[in-house]
Amino acid sequence: MIVVIAEQRDGTLNRATWETIAAAQQLAGVVGTPATVLVPGAGAAAAANELAAADVQGVATLEHTALEPYTPDGFTAALQPALAELQAAYVLLPHTYQTRDFAPKLAARMDRAIITDVTGIKTAGASDPAFVRPMFQGKLTADVVPQGSGPHFVTFQIGAYRADQAKKGGAAAIRALSVTVDASAIREKPEAPFQQAKQAVDLSQAERIVSVGRGIKEEANIGVARRLADALGAEIAASRPICDAGWLPMERQVGSSGQTVAPKLYLALGISGAIQHLVGMKGSSTVVAINKDPDAPIFEIADYGIIGDLFEIVPAMIEALKQ
Ligand SMILES: Cc1cc2nc3c(=O)[nH]c(=O)nc-3n(C[C@H](O)[C@H](O)[C@H](O)COP(=O)(O)OP(=O)(O)OC[C@H]3O[C@@H](n4cnc5c(N)ncnc54)[C@H](O)[C@@H]3O)c2cc1C
Repeated sequence: MIVVIAEQRDGTLNRATWETIAAAQQLAGVVGTPATVLVPGAGAAAAANELAAADVQGVATLEHTALEPYTPDGFTAALQPALAELQAAYVLLPHTYQTRDFAPKLAARMDRAIITDVTGIKTAGASDPAFVRPMFQGKLTADVVPQGSGPHFVTFQIGAYRADQAKKGGAAAIRALSVTVDASAIREKPEAPFQQAKQAVDLSQAERIVSVGRGIKEEANIGVARRLADALGAEIAASRPICDAGWLPMERQVGSSGQTVAPKLYLALGISGAIQHLVGMKGSSTVVAINKDPDAPIFEIADYGIIGDLFEIVPAMIEALKQ
């Protein structure tokens, strides 16, 4: 069985889960094994109802006190027997912060390898899948073929697959799993979520992003980009030099050393399109770039390119949006 571990909080699904389902459906076609979605945590039933629309063999919920509040120990202890019951051959996860926290531990506990940040699946042999992942800041890609017995753990880069690529199939059967967890296995005692986390933005969930590059010239000019973001109902983000300069907080940086995003609209203002930036946003559905250099590499991946001075174009866009 291919098992997708869904991510949800209080019944609200992280939409990267749908991206992982799209990957699972492709993998199912390669290895000829059906896929099922495993939904851990309180609120799993509500998220499972939504996931039942996917073209998968089934949806399994896993609710247990060990899963609340979230701890990597609790997830590891509860998921290990659940994966055994589902006879998982592959375990697929979205490459979210939470996955990064618990999945390596779960794989290590089961003495299996984990292939992380995967961007695609290829066929290596008869029905052997190879998982494509970037290396050296995206300069190389490696085709990784897992060896030995499963389950093989694979995490998918946000935006590598599109949520709307996931095939819908009607009504997958939902069943509830139950597991026994030794409470002493949970050593962490999490405190209430960090207050600032409320303001901290998870750009990977944003539908629209206005991103600022060095073309903005100085900190005082960030305001014009903010006004455009407000007019579009978008989050503001930036290339690395802007965050390095402290003009926007680090959590707003997009790229290989920042966040990976996949919004419906990514508007790049005065960003040249260095590879370290592109790897963080190339999964966006529509990229609009404004740059005064017609040879800027960002135009190679932009769906719409506007060659010109952002200080003329952006105010005109804000005016047009207001109307
Ligand atoms: C290990 C490593 C990790 C890195 N990680 C990241 C990362 O996570 N994210 C990231 O973004 N970068 C990262 N970088 C840096 C990356 O290599 C680039 O230096 C950076 O992305 C460039 O940012 P930029 O496009 O804003 O600036 P520049 O490359 O300086 O481009 C500015 C652009 O603005 C245009 N412009 C100027 N004035 C105007 C105007 N008035 N109107 C319109 N356009 C104008 C210019 O034509 C130019 O194309 C990393 C680098 C390394 C070595």
